[in-house]
Amino acid sequence: MKIGILGDIHANTDALTAVVDALKRENVDVWVQVGDIVGYGPEPSACIDIVRDLGCVTCLGNHDAAVLGRLDTSYFNNFARSAIHWTAPQLRPSDYAFLNALELVVKQPEFTVVHGTLHMPDQFGYVVSVVEALESLEHQETRLCFVGHSHVPAIYLRRDENPRDIHVVPHSEAEISYRGFDRVLMNVGSVGQPRDEDPRAAYGLVDTDLEIASIRRVHYDIASVQAKIREAGLPDVLANRLALGV
Ligand code: ZN
Repeated sequence: MKIGILGDIHANTDALTAVVDALKRENVDVWVQVGDIVGYGPEPSACIDIVRDLGCVTCLGNHDAAVLGRLDTSYFNNFARSAIHWTAPQLRPSDYAFLNALELVVKQPEFTVVHGTLHMPDQFGYVVSVVEALESLEHQETRLCFVGHSHVPAIYLRRDENPRDIHVVPHSEAEISYRGFDRVLMNVGSVGQPRDEDPRAAYGLVDTDLEIASIRRVHYDIASVQAKIREAGLPDVLANRLALGV
């Protein structure tokens, strides 16, 4: 089985389209989205449509929750908050229904999906180092788990016989074999707003037959989404950061 994993999209259709095209060439069997379809970017409804049409296994992100009014926006920085306030009135009733139906944790036979961490999914903590990976892995019941939220990709691997010894693949692009590992925690980075100083859209691909996990990158038309952000009246910094990958 091939699993295509979409990280934080953040209403960036230009990036999402590039990632979906790249994954379609891989003949993906199962599509996953790890939350934050909306927020920051200019095309929330279009991105929800794409995620829905792909039949993604999707969980709730903190920006999705905030737009729904289920998370206090004082938690966010000024730019994120103003984007949330911009997004909410843009959404159609069907978009609200779609986001409202999302769960914090989605467990399937082969994998689990959560936006932040498995040990505190409703707190939206980040997996950015072995410290948080250790705790999240303690709560991981499936061999594979996909997360996002930090917008920085990395893969954490564990053998159950030695659960404190985490093997980390901290690269923004990687292809690794997880054969021999009992738990794989994969932060797939961000489709629509990468923050690892690589402005290319990030995504994950896992082949469960070959036991290979990949973090991949693809170029997309950054100028196009920047123009839409400015035209929408969203904060300029949200356009500028996309070219820097921060
Ligand atoms: Zn995000």
